Amino acid sequence: MTEIFTGNFTQQEPIPEEGIAAALDVLRHGRLHRYNTKAGEISETARLEQDFAALTGAKYCLAVASGGYAMSTALRAVGVGPGDCVLSNAFTLAPVPGAIASVGAVPVFVGVTEQLTIDLDDLEAKAGQAKVLLLSHMRGHICDMDRLMAICDAAGITVIEDCAHTMGAAWRGVPSGRHGAVGCYSCQTYKHVNSGEGGFLVTDDEEIAARAVILSGSYMLYERHLAAPDPSVFERVKYVTPNISGRMDNLRASILRPQLRALDAEVDRWNDRYRVLEDGLRGTPGLTVIERPAEERYVGSSFQVLLLDWAGGKVSDVVRRCAARGVELKWFGAAEPVAFTSRYDSWRYVEAPRMPETDRVLAGILDMRVPLTFSLDDCALIARIIRAEVGAVYQSA
Ligand SMILES: *Cc1c(COP(=O)(O)O)cnc(C)c1O
Repeated sequence: MTEIFTGNFTQQEPIPEEGIAAALDVLRHGRLHRYNTKAGEISETARLEQDFAALTGAKYCLAVASGGYAMSTALRAVGVGPGDCVLSNAFTLAPVPGAIASVGAVPVFVGVTEQLTIDLDDLEAKAGQAKVLLLSHMRGHICDMDRLMAICDAAGITVIEDCAHTMGAAWRGVPSGRHGAVGCYSCQTYKHVNSGEGGFLVTDDEEIAARAVILSGSYMLYERHLAAPDPSVFERVKYVTPNISGRMDNLRASILRPQLRALDAEVDRWNDRYRVLEDGLRGTPGLTVIERPAEERYVGSSFQVLLLDWAGGKVSDVVRRCAARGVELKWFGAAEPVAFTSRYDSWRYVEAPRMPETDRVLAGILDMRVPLTFSLDDCALIARIIRAEVGAVYQSA
């Protein structure tokens, strides 16, 4: 019997009832704008920022309209401007180089290793080319953050972390997003908390925080923020920082707050699923499972394997055969960008030299979402299907 998977790779769990109730409250009172508060009232958005600052241990937190907006705001707030070079990952998704381009800056791509993390030797070699690194913890794979920070500190590079896939993750106990000067997160539907769209920026730097608040469109209402620096800091930046609207609103904040409280438990559920996939796929001939370092606390919200050094046609055979059995795999080796997947050479507004070692890894990456609506049995079935189809194509090679 040929097993078929019938689950939906893009189906999230519902918003928790507590969040639905809180959202209805906001809808009933009608004060959705974060600064629309009654005397003495604290907005859901301001409370959300306090919650997220506490969760990450950051001094300051700003909630914004998207993860991409958090990154472009972070770049502006650390002083990146038109023509500046910004180091970033060759293996990431389009909003990352897009955030750099949005401030008129120029991405300089750093390669990817077989562990799917940024190539630290390549970073070291390119460290002289920029003053800022926008580090993407792509698909939740965290590099050796101790070595990365040592390289960047020695070169005077400011690190901004893209934690779209690492909310709830950590490196040696330090939450992802807390190694660099700024951490940026996404609350978009496919990430670890879901408000449709949304994002966070965290930092311990009072000037970066104050600039980010003004940039996000606070007007002179910044004193209504509870996870922001002292008003005296705003005095130093308020006349010279433009308003580039990108605020969070109270409706989204209300549905996010209960999700943040549940995040730790959800991470455990994701990792249970991840381990079933890992166990089901380890030892498949021709297929490499990415072994996770002991220092990393990851969030298994997606799963990657490598078909290293396979002919491209064979990889697309695997993708096609798995799709026919209901298993949706994304391939980073495809010549054309498809859906959310693209690669550094798809972003043709950047002049990027070819990176042969990175191309070799990208050509082998198969990627899959793992929504929490999948059961452990679903994950075991998915692993059996991938194992069988990889096996069938590998033997025919
Ligand atoms: C989703 C994503 C972002 C941006 O998040 P949005 O909230 O969609 O703007 C940034 N980086 C990566 C790697 C992402 O996948």
